[in-house]
Amino acid sequence: MPITEERIANECDITLENLSATPEGRQVLTCIQCGTCAGTCPYGDYMDYPPRRIIALLRIGFIEEVFHSDSLLNCVACYSCMAQCPRGIRLTEVLLPLVKEEMFAKLPQVPAELQTALQNTLRYGNPQGLSPRKRTDWIKTTEVPIRILSEDPRPVDVLWFVECQNSYHPRGQDNSRAVAKLFHTLGVDFAILGNDEKCAGECARLVGESGLFDTLRERNMGYFQKYKFNQIVTGGAHAYDAFKFIYPCHGFNYPLEHTTTFFAKKLDALKPKLTKKLNYLVTYHDSCCLGRHNEFYEEPRNLLRAIPGTKLAEMVHNRIISRCCGGGGGGMWLDTYYKSKGMERLSEQRIKEAIATGADVLAVSCPYEISRFEDALKVMGYENKMVVRDIVELLAESLGDN
Ligand code: SF4
Ligand code: SF4
Repeated sequence: MPITEERIANECDITLENLSATPEGRQVLTCIQCGTCAGTCPYGDYMDYPPRRIIALLRIGFIEEVFHSDSLLNCVACYSCMAQCPRGIRLTEVLLPLVKEEMFAKLPQVPAELQTALQNTLRYGNPQGLSPRKRTDWIKTTEVPIRILSEDPRPVDVLWFVECQNSYHPRGQDNSRAVAKLFHTLGVDFAILGNDEKCAGECARLVGESGLFDTLRERNMGYFQKYKFNQIVTGGAHAYDAFKFIYPCHGFNYPLEHTTTFFAKKLDALKPKLTKKLNYLVTYHDSCCLGRHNEFYEEPRNLLRAIPGTKLAEMVHNRIISRCCGGGGGGMWLDTYYKSKGMERLSEQRIKEAIATGADVLAVSCPYEISRFEDALKVMGYENKMVVRDIVELLAESLGDN
């Protein structure tokens, strides 16, 4: 559903208490208790309170018991329940964050790994807990010049929001170098916030830490308002979602693209520059944010098809029924918690499907997926069978010496 001014006005002040006073809230209460949400949820078997049950309890005034359970720590914000609900109830966007916020405030103990990530994000502006001064260290190894707005504040066309994983994680930095090379090849006028950039906060919000989300959002909005630019482009699928769906409640009204859609729109200009043949059989993993939440199913595939020599093989679950990597909604920092409960990692389930295609490359478009899937390949002993590459890395490789 597109974000409209009416939708923003309806949703910005929605709470569990005023649910029935808003169109979106009334929609929640139309649930027919069909159970599709519980059935489609990747961790539904481990939830005492799947969405269907939450709504049933909400209607009869017993929602408080949900707040005292850790059931929704098993929600990895995959949008599967929302995408398949026959009543069109926006569970992942509207209902679950409200319930999680209450749950998070009452959790007797936040799992240690998640707690560390949240504390790091508050203190350093990134979940990795690395110095904000090191956010732009990756620039030293790029082939092309990168303008930082705090050093050169002239107006710019594209404000590139790099995002934490792509700034700090070594494999994320590969992604950033590829984006910089593609921008440069296409003659895009771009600049970054540099060390001023903070985590967009989407995962903090979707795990229930809305106070932290607000802090991060205010800091980023302060920097957006400081500079003149025409559009924001980000390689972070979760940052994209935060900017598109939540920041508009707080004044964000900039044209926005994910790197995948940005380059897909420039395919006519890009295609003649993709001169190096890559003889890969590629299978593409639809990220939950870009796929189910935004319905960008063809853009990433069109980019992959444009690479000479590359062939595509689909996994059994693709597009709207694609399986989640397990990294959303705080899941990125809950693997130890899930393991302690005997739950199989979703990234490993997905790797089984990817390997079954016979592909030698697993292509992704969300920074979390690189590290999650590379780790799963290692754990499962498939390191020599498959590599994980972001689409932008494959595009940049195909540029050859351009
Ligand atoms: S899928 Fe939708 S209508 Fe069905 S139980 Fe879940 S919330 Fe209710
Ligand atoms: S968003 Fe995904 S993980 Fe969360 S309740 Fe819905 S189906 Fe389950």
